[in-house]
Amino acid sequence: MVRENEVRLNELAVALPERFDAEVIFIGRIRTPWTSRLDAPRQGRPDGPICRIEVFEPWVPALEGIKRYGRLEVLYWLHMSRRDLVLQSPANDGAVRGTFALRSPVRPNPIGTSVVELIAVNAGSLDVKGLDCLDGTPLLDLKPDRTLFVPIAPPQKGDFETG
Ligand code: SAM
Repeated sequence: MVRENEVRLNELAVALPERFDAEVIFIGRIRTPWTSRLDAPRQGRPDGPICRIEVFEPWVPALEGIKRYGRLEVLYWLHMSRRDLVLQSPANDGAVRGTFALRSPVRPNPIGTSVVELIAVNAGSLDVKGLDCLDGTPLLDLKPDRTLFVPIAPPQKGDFETG
């Protein structure tokens, strides 16, 4: 059952620290058809709608070369999520599991990830399939899908020899 911001039976909320360890940079914004958490899919689907990933300046040049990858990993900030639950009841039936045993959007660092199909590269944006986030979700990062990625400079013979 999809949540808004409630604490359910047997769930455990903890006090958040006063200070945080790192700041992230929102490098863009994701445009999807979903405006409510109740409507968004639990996970993106390969046959889902085409969504647009808008990349902000000054990060647009970082898209150079991305066209060669048919699949990307997208990392985004699930900005509407509460961050203080350590036990959660996904079915809202009193049965709880630890946050790290779930892919729930509610987590101390609400980072979502999806593997998407790259449909088109535009000036400053990408069209993709396979997302599950709300319209306006902040973008954290884009990477080639790890199963497609080939390092530009493969290890050379002797790189790992210790002498
Ligand atoms: N695919 C990602 C993952 O596995 O890391 C996210 C999965 S999470 C279960 C997807 C759900 O998060 C959606 O169904 C919706 O209820 C909720 N959601 C989507 N965008 C959100 C946002 N910006 N803030 C908070 N919750 C969001």
